[in-house]
Amino acid sequence: MDTPVDATEWLIERNLAPADAQLWDVCVNRLHNLRAHTRALLAARADDQAPSDTALQAVNEALTRVPSVSLLRWSDDEGLQRSAEHPATQVVEHAMASLAADLADLLTGSDAEILSACSAPSCNRYMLRTHARRHWCSTRCGDRVRAARAYARRNTAPRSKETAAAN
Ligand SMILES: [Zn+2]
Repeated sequence: MDTPVDATEWLIERNLAPADAQLWDVCVNRLHNLRAHTRALLAARADDQAPSDTALQAVNEALTRVPSVSLLRWSDDEGLQRSAEHPATQVVEHAMASLAADLADLLTGSDAEILSACSAPSCNRYMLRTHARRHWCSTRCGDRVRAARAYARRNTAPRSKETAAAN
């Protein structure tokens, strides 16, 4: 979710934003920020470490910033009306609160015990180790690691006959 368009799609796919939502750069930055703190909390939990205050604070802010009321406003054209300050801000704050709530539930639930980082070197995801021999977040990561091992074996294997003959 690196661009506003990607981030918006990501939220819409998860029912965290209305289908016609449009996020701005500033919203994406806030989502990225929350993601970084989420990762820090997941890492701390997976390693049985105390989380940083900064990460806790960021998630708590996301949890409590959800706008539950729209404000009373006056406009010369339409008179008194209730509306949020910026619909995009409201969408992103709602999404962040929802993501933060899921995270808080995960970290305090029984699944937290099996939270683990994916063992694939190029992967930075976290997963639930649903069985003891599970090492990868996805079959894609497992396949990638196996392919890399096979490649490494081929390259360290004794030279083939042709190469040996050429020498
Ligand atoms: Zn992975």
